Amino acid sequence: MSQKAPRRKSAVTTQRAVAVRGRSADVGRGTPSPSPWSLGEGQQIPWEYAPAPESRDIVALKSRYGLFIGGKEVAPRGGQWFTTVDPATEEPIAEIARATVKDVDQAVGVARKAFKRDWSTLPGSERAKYLFRIARILQERSREFAVLESLDGGKPIKESRDVDVPLAAAHFWYYAGWADKLEYAFPGRNPGPLGVAAQVIPWNFPLLMLAWKIAPALAAGNTVVLKPASSTPMSALFFADVCRQADLPAGVVNIITGPGEIGLALVKHPDVDKVAFTGSTAVGKEIGRAVAGTNKALTLELGGKAANIIFDDAPIDQAIEGVINGIYFNQGEVCCAGSRLFVQESIAGPFIERLKDRLSTLRVGDPLDKNTDVGAINNAAQLAKIEELVEAGVAEGCDIYQPACELPARGWFFRPTLFTNVAQSSRIAQEEIFGPVLSVLTFRTPAEAVEKANNTAYGLSAGVWTEKGSRILSMVSKMRAGVVWANTFNRFDPTSPFGGYKESGFGREGGLHGLLAYLDLDGGH
Ligand code: NDP
Repeated sequence: MSQKAPRRKSAVTTQRAVAVRGRSADVGRGTPSPSPWSLGEGQQIPWEYAPAPESRDIVALKSRYGLFIGGKEVAPRGGQWFTTVDPATEEPIAEIARATVKDVDQAVGVARKAFKRDWSTLPGSERAKYLFRIARILQERSREFAVLESLDGGKPIKESRDVDVPLAAAHFWYYAGWADKLEYAFPGRNPGPLGVAAQVIPWNFPLLMLAWKIAPALAAGNTVVLKPASSTPMSALFFADVCRQADLPAGVVNIITGPGEIGLALVKHPDVDKVAFTGSTAVGKEIGRAVAGTNKALTLELGGKAANIIFDDAPIDQAIEGVINGIYFNQGEVCCAGSRLFVQESIAGPFIERLKDRLSTLRVGDPLDKNTDVGAINNAAQLAKIEELVEAGVAEGCDIYQPACELPARGWFFRPTLFTNVAQSSRIAQEEIFGPVLSVLTFRTPAEAVEKANNTAYGLSAGVWTEKGSRILSMVSKMRAGVVWANTFNRFDPTSPFGGYKESGFGREGGLHGLLAYLDLDGGH
């Protein structure tokens, strides 16, 4: 069974695209000549980079990966497997175990035993040693993890190499430091672990989300059962090997793979004390309902529709880079992506022109090429969702711009896209697209910017660009977003809490807040 559907070329979509645009049916899919939406002449880079692919040889792949339960790789009880696919080539990478409910039960039971027997009884300084060891091994194996992450997820190697893997290691370093200082972190309290944590993570930052969840859980003395997304299980399974290499006591970390229903079985398991989920708002709500009425602690990190606000006194060069990084980083498959750009009306014309120029220099293609800026969309269903929303934007009368770049013939790719003439009520200004698609709107006054920025069901992140510190502080205090970046965007640090309001979920990950989510402040021995 494959979790990634084959590439979709439905007649329905094709006809609809034709009807919408009256020309090519292949929305953002790489027609070899400039698309009718591109600026055309003068917008292409006049020269080409030579290919600079990172070698795949550093990753030793097996043909099959079982579940990681009790420190061992075990076959799934149902004897079923599914295939994980390279989104850039649509080639299979490996077969992955499809866990059953019995496997979930076994993993939770093993995690409970390891909690009682080993992990909760170890002094914090001993737990810290394991976390430091894991951090160091991740750093030592960083090139291998970077290649693996790009192979399985489609993200550019320069991002997995410079962001995902170093940040994942940094989370283990950071939380290792807290493991023996919990009573200093929460003075006057008696902090202790919650027990067994069930953790379900998405496909956009597989290793990083694993680190955000496992590092604070272990530092606080919990044991975990983690389910990665079915389209990106590889780095979690390689992390199992890191746990073995670090001599982590068996059962402290368990990795189970399988579809969403297995994630649901895991979070519903009666012997789980804490549930942590990152993913779509719809699934987050389902998990919220499943956990309601139990004693389980819950944190939900869900979707977003972040506003990136550019005032006319902003440092323009930096702001252009910040907008590009805000929405095209990781193909826009980022919960906190700056997908709504608000530009002050007085500078909107020239700012948008410069943005288009910059867009046309982005290199889309092989994720393993070190020069690639925008890699492959993670899975066929996600590509279909992006196409559908882009078509909706065109149908609603928004003006689309896509640079005339050529996309690879195979794989799930989408052109970086920018919409102007967007209404607040437009679907592309309201719904999370989770792709390389920017909606540009304008404003005149700070009050109008706040009003428009907050006009969303989400509340995860935002950005403000201005040279005035007082304006930054004023805007930050008025925006309903868990994270507000000032004169930067998509900056992450293990010491800094991250999380949302409204449909973006609740609870914080990172920093002391992230530690607190795995502690009972009166539960110490
Ligand atoms: P999901 O929320 O479906 O998947 C996230 C994780 O939850 C995966 O491990 C998935 O497993 C698992 N899961 C799926 N259904 C359930 C369930 N009923 N109970 C428990 N766990 C479940 O995200 P999608 O992959 O479907 O993406 C859909 C949309 O969600 C995207 O287009 C994007 O808008 C948003 N999204 C937001 C993310 C964020 O960081 N905020 C991350 C990913 C997506 P499996 O992979 O096996 O289905």
